[in-house]
Amino acid sequence: MAGLLSARVLSEHFEKVIILERERLPEGPEARKNAPQGRHIHALLEAGLTVLDGLFPGLVQDLVQEGADLVDLARDAAWFQSGSWKVRYEGGPRSILVSRPFLEWKVRARVTALPNIEVWQGYGVEELLTDASRTRVTGAKVKGPEGEQTLEGGLVVDTSGRGSRAPHWLEAMGYGRPEEEQVGIDLGYTSRLYERPANFDAWKILVVNGRAPEAKRSGFISNVEGGRWIVSLNGYFGDHAPTDDAGFLEFARGLPSPHLYEYIRDAKPLTAPVSHKIPTSRWMHYEKMARFPEGFVLLGDTVCALNPVFGQGMTVACLGAKLLGEKVARARTSPEGLHAGLARGFQKELSKIVGLCWFLTTTMDLAYPETRGKRPFGLKAVQWSVQNMIDLTSLDAKACHAFYEVLHMRKGMEGLLQPGFVSALMAYNLRSLFVPREQRANLTTLPPAPGRTVPPAAPGERDVAA
Ligand SMILES: Cc1cc2nc3c(=O)[nH]c(=O)nc-3n(C[C@H](O)[C@H](O)[C@H](O)COP(=O)(O)OP(=O)(O)OC[C@H]3O[C@@H](n4cnc5c(N)ncnc54)[C@H](O)[C@@H]3O)c2cc1C
Repeated sequence: MAGLLSARVLSEHFEKVIILERERLPEGPEARKNAPQGRHIHALLEAGLTVLDGLFPGLVQDLVQEGADLVDLARDAAWFQSGSWKVRYEGGPRSILVSRPFLEWKVRARVTALPNIEVWQGYGVEELLTDASRTRVTGAKVKGPEGEQTLEGGLVVDTSGRGSRAPHWLEAMGYGRPEEEQVGIDLGYTSRLYERPANFDAWKILVVNGRAPEAKRSGFISNVEGGRWIVSLNGYFGDHAPTDDAGFLEFARGLPSPHLYEYIRDAKPLTAPVSHKIPTSRWMHYEKMARFPEGFVLLGDTVCALNPVFGQGMTVACLGAKLLGEKVARARTSPEGLHAGLARGFQKELSKIVGLCWFLTTTMDLAYPETRGKRPFGLKAVQWSVQNMIDLTSLDAKACHAFYEVLHMRKGMEGLLQPGFVSALMAYNLRSLFVPREQRANLTTLPPAPGRTVPPAAPGERDVAA
């Protein structure tokens, strides 16, 4: 995804853009061998949707016409986060509910329709080419169906994902390796598609996240195109959902709220469960390297592959590509041109985008004693306040909105520093010292969508309010 988006932004500034893709791409909206995560839920944050909308006018309407749901997540999502249900209201962040292969297929069609973009399928990058002084990357050596060849170019963008060989290439060029930060979570996803029950409208996406440290499981049901639900279950530290029918359901029954199990137990599965393991969240700190060559940038999972529970990866790729487009546009009009600090400056600015996501995700993950990773000073106090913030958003729509603005990357952390939000949280923190949690947060009842008075029922009209 990061590669397609980068190609799109660079097509405005270069005569020709070549996408090198190691595998042969499917004709239709199918999950790929080298992007197996496509078989699991892929939520898009509002900031990502906004970038896609800007880069590909008409894409969102096209997706909706073909069965994706454009949603107001405050209204259409039922979210049990860290043990409490989010309040539901109108006017929250927008998102589109669509399977990852379908979204990627549509984006790819638009990118490859651009006259100056070529996709070379079956071509893997073997190594980088440099100038004689090794201060600038000038191209890449690639291996494809016709053997090896070299490609020269003004800018090389590495979006090859978690398995990127850039650390090795940079080391071989004499730059050393980037610092690698890891948080070990041993997370496992198991997912399958279901037929969506007819006329079901209690919510469009249901998310159940356990509260650390006791609950290690999460589950998601999301509408996707084709009148289907994608159901993803995950668990930390080896507690992974099995891939057989009974085991999948049994795992769902063990989620920290009974709702998801109730919704799927009589639903009709369309595919067999498939699994995917995510041992760590990993951030490669290219922005901290003492020296960095010109002509080479990295983005997407290549730089930071996060625990996907918060659905940030594609949005970070979108924001990274947008930033790249802006940086290149500026560099091309400056007298110094493309090779005077662009690469370094880009990695530094990208790290600010990544840093927010890393903070949100790892703060939650490090609440489990089993999580492996560096625990920053004051973490426990931050986690206590974050848990209170989450509980506050189960009852207070204004606070919930401020929280969503940051979560959906419409704002940075400063979004949580608005006086109204700070005072609400401080008062809540104080209250939490005296009032039992069940009296100050919605821990049990899946709230109805705004305007609905009856509690949403599971398919078959079974009442699932706990
Ligand atoms: C289980 C799971 C669930 C997820 N859920 C979400 C979610 O809900 N929301 C969200 O936003 N994100 C989610 N993500 C993360 C998301 O999939 C990624 O962040 C996003 O796809 C960006 O990836 P990328 O393009 O950087 O890398 P990738 O998608 O990994 O793509 C890398 C590409 O590079 C190619 N390649 C690799 N090496 C070479 C080479 N040497 N030469 C040529 N080509 C090469 C590969 O074939 C591949 O096509 C999830 C991830 C997982 C694992």
